[in-house]
Amino acid sequence: MPEVLFYDSPYARRCDAVVLSAATGGTKTKPRTQVVLDRTIFYPAGGGQPGDRGILRQEGAEYIVRDTVKGDDGTPVHVLEGASRPTVGAVVSLEIDWNHRFDYMQQHSGQHLLSAALYRIADANTVSVHQGERYTTIEVDRDSILPAQLSDVETAAREVILENRPITSFPVSSDDLVRFPLRRPTSRTGEVRLVEIDNWDRVACAGVHVRSTAQIGNVQTVGSESLRGNLRLVFAIGNRAHRDYGKVRAAALAAAGMFSASIEDLPDRVHQALDEIRTLHGRTKSLARRLAKRTLESGRFAPDRPALLELGNEEDALFDALVRELAEQGFAAACVVNRGSDKVRFAIIAHGGNGLPVQKTVQGVIRDAGARGGGREPLWQGICDDADRLARCFSAAFPTKRQT
Ligand SMILES: [Zn+2]
Repeated sequence: MPEVLFYDSPYARRCDAVVLSAATGGTKTKPRTQVVLDRTIFYPAGGGQPGDRGILRQEGAEYIVRDTVKGDDGTPVHVLEGASRPTVGAVVSLEIDWNHRFDYMQQHSGQHLLSAALYRIADANTVSVHQGERYTTIEVDRDSILPAQLSDVETAAREVILENRPITSFPVSSDDLVRFPLRRPTSRTGEVRLVEIDNWDRVACAGVHVRSTAQIGNVQTVGSESLRGNLRLVFAIGNRAHRDYGKVRAAALAAAGMFSASIEDLPDRVHQALDEIRTLHGRTKSLARRLAKRTLESGRFAPDRPALLELGNEEDALFDALVRELAEQGFAAACVVNRGSDKVRFAIIAHGGNGLPVQKTVQGVIRDAGARGGGREPLWQGICDDADRLARCFSAAFPTKRQT
């Protein structure tokens, strides 16, 4: 079993090692080479923490380590990009992608810190955790937590960060676990790794952590959602919390700028604007209704004659109002077309009655006009490319009876 250095030296960024084996696999277009070394600082993916990435060097040659995974017996396997491989038996030097590693050390440690705060303050037990690329989520066995209590959890976690308490990690035999009360019991046997935040938390965890709480930097609640009767809490942890704050502030400033308002006044201004939009929307609808009524009262149309109304790029509100009026006034057959800038919208109103096959007739009109749409008596709607063709097809199917 190769020597793993990431527990005793989680801050080591470089080390030398001897290549024990190197085998190329993957696919033809995406070959990958798996390398096992006699020692490594690269953490293999596990326990929610992704595998380490970085660079492996040998006499001027550089290999990109895309991932580190666990082999069958738990041996760390370095997954190199490409098919070229270092010489077996040779000494290589490893360099870790430190930003990536430290980020996940912050996530793991921050998660323990928060889980303990949730347990202590909100009586919430952690059921599962996920370290995502943007946020870390903690699922707890509570269906809800009051915002004020969640705020207390956050405040307590930040206090522990400022107190800079040591975080230690050490192996114990599962037989000795009785001497180490855990926040969350473990069923593991044999050698179990424990992680302890001084006077705050102790759990079993095989991940890599920062050395003291100050290194977690910050924790920020982002949101929560209900899940199978539990609550999933979303957090921005570590440097991510600062980046997240920057993004949120920039977005809020941009929005506030549009209203010439301060960020604090933004919710009120957005509320006001939405109210105005709703009022204007209502007014537009009522104006469209009046205009539709007037159009039908112009004398050119009568409910017992097929009506063809052609609009040129009119508002949807007027189109909808006309369709509604035609239906309410009981027009036997009517067609409204609106020539938009890129498409023609149409609606056909038709009543069968007396067993007339109106469904087939209207479907025939839509098909013959090369239009797309559908519906059922008394209303069909859709879009087409050629308004004149649709008008011709409608007039042919519903001819105006000549007055004699
Ligand atoms: Zn951990």
